[in-house]
Amino acid sequence: MYILIVEDEAKAAAHLKKGLAEVNIVTDVAKDGLQGLALAQTKEYDLIILDVMLPGIDGWEVVKRLRADGRNTPILMLTARDAVHDRVTGLQLGADDYLVKPFAFSELVARIQSLLRRGQVMQSDLLRVRTWR
Ligand code: CA
Repeated sequence: MYILIVEDEAKAAAHLKKGLAEVNIVTDVAKDGLQGLALAQTKEYDLIILDVMLPGIDGWEVVKRLRADGRNTPILMLTARDAVHDRVTGLQLGADDYLVKPFAFSELVARIQSLLRRGQVMQSDLLRVRTWR
């Protein structure tokens, strides 16, 4: 499994990378929106963990551009505030799920697993449709 972490706070990014490595997940870290967008457009990630508040372009703009680009990599957004507006904006722009900071690491891992399962179901449905035709 290969995940992109887009998070400008170095400590938080290092904590995520270390925690995910412990559950055998390989990660790349991008420190701002533009770097995250560039990596997401050139590499094939299984999932993207995307902070909303980023220097350069924010997380919402990253989601918007990736989806406009036809990339449908699952995106889990990290929002700093538990504001309905923030969550709705992210989901409307094409994010798949969100977590409000601060969150328990176990919840993050559970959300990642849930998103990846959803993706696998969709892929097997696609295969089934193809077989029928
Ligand atoms: Ca941030």
